[in-house]
Amino acid sequence: MSNNQKELQKTSSRKESNKIGIMGGVFDPIHIGHLFTAEEARMRLNLDKVIFVPCLQPSHKRSDLVTDIKHRLKMTYMAIEDNPFFEVSEIEVNRSGPSYTIDTIKEFREIYGWETDIFFITGADAFLEIDSWYKKDELLKLCKFVAATRPGYDLNKLNNNFKDVLQIMEIPALAISSTDVRYRVKNSLSIKYIVLDVVRKYIYVNKLYF
Ligand code: ATP
Ligand code: MG
Repeated sequence: MSNNQKELQKTSSRKESNKIGIMGGVFDPIHIGHLFTAEEARMRLNLDKVIFVPCLQPSHKRSDLVTDIKHRLKMTYMAIEDNPFFEVSEIEVNRSGPSYTIDTIKEFREIYGWETDIFFITGADAFLEIDSWYKKDELLKLCKFVAATRPGYDLNKLNNNFKDVLQIMEIPALAISSTDVRYRVKNSLSIKYIVLDVVRKYIYVNKLYF
């Protein structure tokens, strides 16, 4: 069965979606910044659901510096478990090579068709890099974008080219990053309340980031 068929099967058992959010990321590990951003986008845009898409191989990072997908995926599943509006998709895990958002959105378009509004949710830092994204012009025609404010990144720097496709979402500043979580574990600092408890326990049990 192809990945698309598997996704379709998963989707067809649920209510028809007309507005979905896609939250792509490395999730190394998933933290409350990701979860809060996704939930806020869901509420404000009245999304039917948000699908978290952990990437296999980030195109902007050396893959040997990223934690094994098996762990990133498990932590993502655990973190979203108690939110009925959140899902995880393994669409990028099942595709070999670098994970490009364009390929992912194309696959979701095939699954959901054009009747569904697709919003790709990012933080300000990620959207500010949009010019370097693979096949950016084509991508901008395939979905809309939501960029959440993130301390240290100024979305006002963007030119007007994006005004039709981008919605800026002001959120309470969360100076939280996976980089900081990894640093904290390595330096025996607390990560309680920055990641969910299940994720924190998983990190310690599996000795990640030490
Ligand atoms: P790293 O520090 O390793 O880059 P990260 O915290 O940026 O990790 P990613 O997996 O790279 O997490 O990010 C996935 C998406 O979540 C990106 O679009 C990113 O901008 C967004 N994001 C991450 N943290 C926050 C935050 N604190 N506030 C808003 N958006 C965030
Ligand atoms: Mg990042």
